[in-house]
Amino acid sequence: MLHSSYIELNKTALSNNINFIKSLLPSTTQLSAVVKGNAYGHGIENYIPIAENAGVNHFSVYKMDEAQRVFKALKNKATILIMGFIDLNELTWVIENEIEFFIYDDERLLKAIEIAKSLDKKAIIHIEIETGLNRTGYLPKNIPNLSKIIKENSNQLNVKGICSHLAGAESISNYIRIKSQISSFNKSVKSFEKKGIIFQQKHLACSAALINYPKTKLDLVRVGIMQYGLWSSKETFMYFLAKNKDAIDPLKRVISWKSKIANIKEVRSGDFVGYGTTFMTEGNMKIALIPVGYSDGYSRSLSNQGRVLVNGIRASVVGIINMNSIMIDITLIPDVKIGDEVVLIGNQNEMDVSIASFSELSNLLNYELLTRIPSEIPRHITE
Ligand SMILES: *Cc1c(COP(=O)(O)O)cnc(C)c1O
Repeated sequence: MLHSSYIELNKTALSNNINFIKSLLPSTTQLSAVVKGNAYGHGIENYIPIAENAGVNHFSVYKMDEAQRVFKALKNKATILIMGFIDLNELTWVIENEIEFFIYDDERLLKAIEIAKSLDKKAIIHIEIETGLNRTGYLPKNIPNLSKIIKENSNQLNVKGICSHLAGAESISNYIRIKSQISSFNKSVKSFEKKGIIFQQKHLACSAALINYPKTKLDLVRVGIMQYGLWSSKETFMYFLAKNKDAIDPLKRVISWKSKIANIKEVRSGDFVGYGTTFMTEGNMKIALIPVGYSDGYSRSLSNQGRVLVNGIRASVVGIINMNSIMIDITLIPDVKIGDEVVLIGNQNEMDVSIASFSELSNLLNYELLTRIPSEIPRHITE
């Protein structure tokens, strides 16, 4: 093992999740798999082929380099949609390769028209509307001028979609704000339609919205976290369970993260373990070292809190997480040897370390923990 840990991506779990998500969608709604943030830490190059295998043919990314990586990794024809940043100097590649992208200001729009003209192609665009997230998007008052530009340049533009992004659909505390976003979005769509601009694809929903705001399942949904087998929030999962009385968790985690025991040592009662004085042994203890630390994305806030699995038994992280290693308590776990498998995320026999349990401990969202796992850690596909 060249690296000190490795990741497994489970193909069957992914197919299961994609099928579940599709079961939530009307037959006319298309699924876009959001693979920004290195496919939420799963690894774009490894993830795209198994997602294609599970029947996905539409991928959304945040920025250019991610779009290029998806483009290279694709085995079949699929749509790529850039939702965020594009350096305008890079727009030529985007338009040439028929990559779709969000438009949220005139600067990008006019540049796209100019480049499309020079390439004798149409730029395939999705108009992003500001409905209340206050991040990017056109305001309703921009619609008359925008419509004018669109109509005057219809030879250079394929105005495929209209979209917006919800400001926290995973929590009921945002209910009023989300409702107002949905209504504002519908108004904007009508304003365009009055001016004769009709969109093929209206889209608003992310994972949480599929459960909490079913009316946002329009022509396309942009689903991230759920395809990887995680809920956007505990609240969203509870709401799903409340509406589906007999249901057990239909999602299966795709990722597992594993390492090996690198060292074992006996520590006398009353000694401190690791840097400083955060952990003192109460009795003689057996401590094992795992060669994974915060530089590998194992958050420092899991110091004295994290749990891992060894021989199918849960072991606690003791002391401070180091840059490249953590120490765990194996005093009560029989027969641990150097080289034994350690599960950081995933299951071993019947036991499980979930990302949710993890991120509650460290106050990180599922999202952040996943995307902090470095891209250099090798990924393997399992059936
Ligand atoms: C990240 C993102 C999504 C997907 O969000 P999930 O909660 O992971 O489903 C959808 N739309 C936009 C614009 C995003 O940035």
